[in-house]
Amino acid sequence: MVGARRRLVETLREKGIRDLAVLRAFDMTARHAFVPTGVRHRAYDDVPLPIGNGQTISQPSVHAKSLEALALKGHERVLEIGSGSGYQTVLLAHLAAQVFTIERIPALFNAAREAIKAAGVTNVSMLLGDGTVGWREFAPYEAILVSAGGPSVPQALVEQLADGGRMIVPVGTLEEQTLVLVSRKGDQVTTREIAPVRFVPLLGTQGWEGQ
Ligand code: SAH
Repeated sequence: MVGARRRLVETLREKGIRDLAVLRAFDMTARHAFVPTGVRHRAYDDVPLPIGNGQTISQPSVHAKSLEALALKGHERVLEIGSGSGYQTVLLAHLAAQVFTIERIPALFNAAREAIKAAGVTNVSMLLGDGTVGWREFAPYEAILVSAGGPSVPQALVEQLADGGRMIVPVGTLEEQTLVLVSRKGDQVTTREIAPVRFVPLLGTQGWEGQ
């Protein structure tokens, strides 16, 4: 499995990922431990995979692009919306000081909790609920990573972004979105488009409502 993981890191490098901390996080994290046994043989291919409950673990190169855009230095408090399998949560745990992650589906929440514990990281806090309203108790966050696609950038999340903070969020229709980088400097909020993507829907009060 270590050989397969190395090959995945090589693939990410070939696809243009340069941030060494990001590549090292992929090297440290066993993706096969986060996917159902039926698809485990494809765990180190650069493809999205089903994780149950109609949800998917993203393509590793999409995770890598998002993580690289956040430019984490290691001291940050990060909020993740959509824990899903918990794989990206663990990547973040290797790249930042403290990770706060929210998932709305109980079965995935419980499986992610076990997988994160098994991965041996201890700087992750988890919440079951609607992540579109953020997690006020621990705000502000230097980085926010949204793992599901919404119709717009959730305002509650912009408000929980620290001065100098960055957020990655897929925005668009239910079928296709653009990965958007939101940066906050004082009261100034700027956005930049990173890449076209396809994510599962962000369901919640500041996402796709009642679906
Ligand atoms: N980063 C994840 C990807 C999971 S797919 C991984 O590495 O596996 C996106 C996840 O977002 C799904 O598990 C879905 O249930 C969750 N989700 C969608 N809307 C949400 C919301 N409002 N709050 C929290 N989680 C949400």
